Amino acid sequence: MLYHFNHNNMELPFAESYKMKMVEPIRKSTRAEREVWIKQAGYNLFGLKSEQVFIDLLTDSGTGAMSDRQWAAMMMGDESYAGATSYFNMKNAIREILGFEYYLPTHQGRAAENVLFSVLVKEGDVVPGNSHFDTTKGHIEFRKAKAVDCTIDEAFDTTLVHPFKGNVDEEKLENVLKTQGEKVPFIIVTVTCNSSGGQPVSVENLKMVRRLADKYGKIVVFDSARFAENAYFIKLREEGYKDKTIREIVLEMFSCADVMTMSAKKDAIVNMGGFIAMRNKELHAQASVFNIVFEGYITYGGMSGRDMNALAQGLYEGTDFEFLETRIRQVEYLGNRLMEFGIPLQQPIGGHGVFVDAKRFLCNVAKEEFQAQKLAVELYLESGVRGVEIGAILADRDPLTRENRFPALEFLRLAIPRRVYTNNHMDVVAVALKNLFDRRETIRKGFRIVHEAPIMRHFTVTLEHAD
Ligand SMILES: *Cc1c(COP(=O)(O)O)cnc(C)c1O
Repeated sequence: MLYHFNHNNMELPFAESYKMKMVEPIRKSTRAEREVWIKQAGYNLFGLKSEQVFIDLLTDSGTGAMSDRQWAAMMMGDESYAGATSYFNMKNAIREILGFEYYLPTHQGRAAENVLFSVLVKEGDVVPGNSHFDTTKGHIEFRKAKAVDCTIDEAFDTTLVHPFKGNVDEEKLENVLKTQGEKVPFIIVTVTCNSSGGQPVSVENLKMVRRLADKYGKIVVFDSARFAENAYFIKLREEGYKDKTIREIVLEMFSCADVMTMSAKKDAIVNMGGFIAMRNKELHAQASVFNIVFEGYITYGGMSGRDMNALAQGLYEGTDFEFLETRIRQVEYLGNRLMEFGIPLQQPIGGHGVFVDAKRFLCNVAKEEFQAQKLAVELYLESGVRGVEIGAILADRDPLTRENRFPALEFLRLAIPRRVYTNNHMDVVAVALKNLFDRRETIRKGFRIVHEAPIMRHFTVTLEHAD
């Protein structure tokens, strides 16, 4: 018999743009073990030992796998106290990829905020932007200033599909500038917007912010941890950008900013590091004073030479289209599996993780009993998977009234580390959540706070069962 040819060529499936050269064992555990461990941790997932976790989706911050090229760059680190070549490697990468002339290395993103805000923020100030990241808000409120959220309303409806849920609402922003303009030191835009679910901001919206800033004579700061993921979404979703490279889009984004703060633990794929970059020489000089006080000399600022080298290399890799496609498609893979099971989540699926809508998932748990925290603990008990609460515990108390703040959204965030897990791991997460979803009606009681810190309480809060 003749061999039968099938002329319908199949399209080759998508696969990762890298292969593995080194692996790290992880351990499963029993439900009985996990029940003991989570109780010992005060029902706070930050309190667990990492070896008590099977799949760790607590954060994508500093948890990525470095490449062979990054490790090679580390060997070439220059550990000179002043003027190290590693400092200049980072400077060149920042100039080439982000377009900023001046920069200061810091040990991580919040250190960049601390140094920059020491120059720019004072008591009574008002800092508008899209949803501020928790440490950013912390650094603003620590200085007795106020962070004003001007995110578009669409971001707060998880069922609504909008391509740029990180966008700043023009009317809300202009209202702040009009009525409290003299108190505004700068406008801050977080790209992508973590708090609204890893949602991107469009170039059009960034240009609007720039226009308003110019009109009212304000500085624009980008909180840039996931700027490359933001650029990827612009390429896919914004009219006129599909033929531009990620690097071209990144430069266009940052052309709207005067200053950027960066947690390099995200899109620069290093385990530790950060920086502030700016166009203004005077601001660089002012910030240098605080950098020396808080971080270290201006050519290392809390980083070793090898770490600066890895960061410089990471900026190139993090803005590579194939890498970004691999990463974001994995996040989408998990999100799509959850949606197949009918699990409610923030749509469209964000850049660095899947944000499960805990309010709709655990509708029998009261918001005063921390729905998202409850869901995170239940997921851990079910499977050893560690996610994190982005809800009322994170939202903290109002600094003036000391009342609990209940945000519009309660999320269980499943943040996916870069280049670390396979889609088989994602399947474990999806099925564990499905099992919980199937018995969601039976979950009725949440938690009560036993102990909390006065600021950024989520890291150390301890809880007990509400019943
Ligand atoms: C992580 C992050 C920060 C803080 O950076 P660290 O490196 O954790 O100190 C600030 N802003 C955004 C948007 C972040 O994602």
